[in-house]
Amino acid sequence: MIAVTGATGQLGALVIQQLLLHVPAEQVVALVRNPAKAAEQLPAGIQIRAADYNDVNSLESALLGVTKLLLISSSEVGQRVVQHKNVVQAAKAAGVPYIVYTSILRADSTPIALGKEHLETERFIIDSGLAYTILRNGWYTENYTASIPAALQHGGLIGAAGEGRISSAARQDYAEAAAAVLVSNGHAGKIYELAGDDFYTLAEFAAELSRQTGQNVPYHNLTESEFRSALLGAGLPTWLAELLADADAGVEKGALFDESHQLGQLIGRATTPFGRVIGSAI
Ligand code: NAP
Repeated sequence: MIAVTGATGQLGALVIQQLLLHVPAEQVVALVRNPAKAAEQLPAGIQIRAADYNDVNSLESALLGVTKLLLISSSEVGQRVVQHKNVVQAAKAAGVPYIVYTSILRADSTPIALGKEHLETERFIIDSGLAYTILRNGWYTENYTASIPAALQHGGLIGAAGEGRISSAARQDYAEAAAAVLVSNGHAGKIYELAGDDFYTLAEFAAELSRQTGQNVPYHNLTESEFRSALLGAGLPTWLAELLADADAGVEKGALFDESHQLGQLIGRATTPFGRVIGSAI
């Protein structure tokens, strides 16, 4: 039985769809904090079990009988180490032999602040004694296409990534990689650095957006603190403005550039070009 946490999230839902191409629905377990929402949203026939990262008892019973567990990192930044440790401890107590975790590209050396929680989780998993695979996911291209409406409205894209190159890929690509690892053998003990086959700077992203929309959307590069202030001014909460500004500063240092092509190798095809993700978003 293969279980997926965060199954009501955007990545988790795609992983479930992908798993169903390979395994019978009754062998797929969606671990969710809101079973009613999951039942409305997820495919029929799969098992839905309540599992809140903050509730160790629910986690342990939800994990009974699971042979492979995908722990999709929590979206609750700042609480993730405790939450992830809860899942790993519950997996051990429930007798789950194998865990796959979605981390961040080069978690052991990334300058991006988000890396700390991921690295601590990775170490906890490795030290747990469970068989494991770490999927160090680079950025989703959708992180940037989410800014397209604001960029079109204001006639410009803002960021603080300078000339930093971004090897992002579509969420679907990462979902297929996770499913591929879960339904095939030979991945235990491996740490994969996953990123897109193509790359771009934010100026190139803006140029492609301009080309596809026929609207001039130049890229305006700001300092990290100017970008954080602009995001706060646009109404983002402080933690998110800081996170995004810090991530762009990391991009400028090359944190999201990668030429290993491990993602394309895992999914058996080239990753989705960023221009195609832009095309789907506009
Ligand atoms: P998402 O759509 O925000 O999904 C997050 C999932 O985490 C949701 O299913 C959410 O459940 C679940 N969750 C949050 N707190 C929980 C808790 N206490 N107990 C149980 N489940 C909980 O994020 P995504 O796009 O699928 O991405 C998956 C993860 O990758 C994110 O959580 C984040 O750690 C990371 N991420 C990566 C990138 C990237 O570019 N690589 C970008 C953004 C995020 P509900 O549906 O109940 O809210």
